[in-house]
Amino acid sequence: MANQTLGLEPQLYEYLLSVSLREPEILTQLRQETAQHPMGGMQIAPEQGQFMALLVQLIGAKKTLEVGVFTGYSSLVVALALPPEGKIIACDVSDEFTAIARRYWQQAGVANKIDLHIAPAIETLDQLLAAGEAETFDFAFIDADKSSYDSYYERSLQLVRPGGLIAIDNVLWSGRVADPKVQDNRTTKIRALNEKLHQDQRINLSLVPIADGLTLAHKK
Ligand code: CA
Repeated sequence: MANQTLGLEPQLYEYLLSVSLREPEILTQLRQETAQHPMGGMQIAPEQGQFMALLVQLIGAKKTLEVGVFTGYSSLVVALALPPEGKIIACDVSDEFTAIARRYWQQAGVANKIDLHIAPAIETLDQLLAAGEAETFDFAFIDADKSSYDSYYERSLQLVRPGGLIAIDNVLWSGRVADPKVQDNRTTKIRALNEKLHQDQRINLSLVPIADGLTLAHKK
């Protein structure tokens, strides 16, 4: 997977960052620490983080959902963009990766905004629905195991309010979705969701070719 915008020559990508990236020092530190990790490629690109922060501010989000925390870059960038009373319900299965996330949330002073649930995300999302939290979220970011993407999307669509936004990561999957020879489980699941969303009349749609591809689904 790509952790910078696909298809830009390095010189142009560096230019994009040089004239637009406003990355707080704490996020730079987290990105550099995560880059040392063997799975560091799972981290979102900084320009994508900044874009998501802008989206959260544009829709005036106060309550958000995150499916897939990893080391916490996306949750931290969203938490910093939320108002003081803002809240993120964050889902992940890894204590190891989220220990890094927690350390940075605390250091940035936003740990109080983030409720981390260590459990399969489908269980957490189903608990939220059972607790009557449908249509109470303003924003959701889906970036976890690709084989369950459709399940995460369907639950998130119930949990966000009309006018709320769902952002789905890695929908261009380093280009593999466009190569019919690639038929592994994760690629076919992403491809199927992309095709489904194209026809999904419950949402307004844009697939933004930032980073590894970010689909925006705006609930009608
Ligand atoms: Ca991702």
